[in-house]
Amino acid sequence: MKKEFIICELSAKVGEKKQGFINILNTETKMPVTIINGANEGSTVLITAGVHGGEYPCIKAAIELAKEIDPKKVSGQIIIVHPVNTQGFVGRNAAVVPEDNKNILRVFPGDKNGTISEKIAYVISNELQEKADFYLDIHGGDIHEDLLPHIYYPGLADKSIIEASINMAKSFNVPYYVKSNTTNGTYTSAAIRKNIPSLLIERGGCGLCKEEDVKEYKRDILNVLSVLNVLDCEIKENEFSPREIKEAVYLEALNDGCWTCFVKAGQEIKEGEKLGEVTDYFGNIIDTYYAKFDAVVLYNTVAYSVTKDSSLIAYGRIN
Ligand SMILES: [Zn+2]
Repeated sequence: MKKEFIICELSAKVGEKKQGFINILNTETKMPVTIINGANEGSTVLITAGVHGGEYPCIKAAIELAKEIDPKKVSGQIIIVHPVNTQGFVGRNAAVVPEDNKNILRVFPGDKNGTISEKIAYVISNELQEKADFYLDIHGGDIHEDLLPHIYYPGLADKSIIEASINMAKSFNVPYYVKSNTTNGTYTSAAIRKNIPSLLIERGGCGLCKEEDVKEYKRDILNVLSVLNVLDCEIKENEFSPREIKEAVYLEALNDGCWTCFVKAGQEIKEGEKLGEVTDYFGNIIDTYYAKFDAVVLYNTVAYSVTKDSSLIAYGRIN
């Protein structure tokens, strides 16, 4: 049992919860954080919401859980960040931190002498992940994206970490979990560099904050905390048992233009099927995109405007 659980400027005694802001190194930027030091011995779970400031259901779920979880029912410690990207949240920016226009999800493990996104990543990596035994980075479709709820696991970590991550993924009520081959993401960095079983979860989208998504998110997180024996609460029976996707295509726009998408998130597609097209301002088709194999659409951009190299669609092969 930790007599005193300390995270940056916050400290909580046994059976206590503390809420407040932590500073990002020598900047004006702060992150709202809740730390819970349980009444009993157990693991430490880190949950970060809102690395992308426009993914609202995960942020609301994290704020509500941080308020509702009773430290007396906790065995171990819980750290919740809600949200990570306060600048992006306030500015209603998609994907990036407005100050440096960088995506925090792509700059891990960060740099203490870097730009603001790199500093945020550095603090999460060195102050928060450092203390964690399990890590959940909770996301959603961004302001311009729709998606099918799914999970990413760190596919390039050590075998035991991959297995522990997949085991955790099975507590979630989503149809698919997807292998990630990245190394610089929030969760992939934690898994590869710090040997922490980690996941990234996607639920909700289109800039909406639907109560049903918030409710499902909370239920998933309570389930996983219960399975990890960190929280004493009832495990809810799931509708789905997640299936693995080992191969996914992340289609990006070849040019700026006007995007029309012919498929929807969650839809099953066939090899060669036309997925969407980009036209110029005069309605002339510049690019047409086709499916490389039979798959399920994980997410798609719903905005009519797309820029070169921005995401259009992701789809995963169904085994
Ligand atoms: Zn995100």
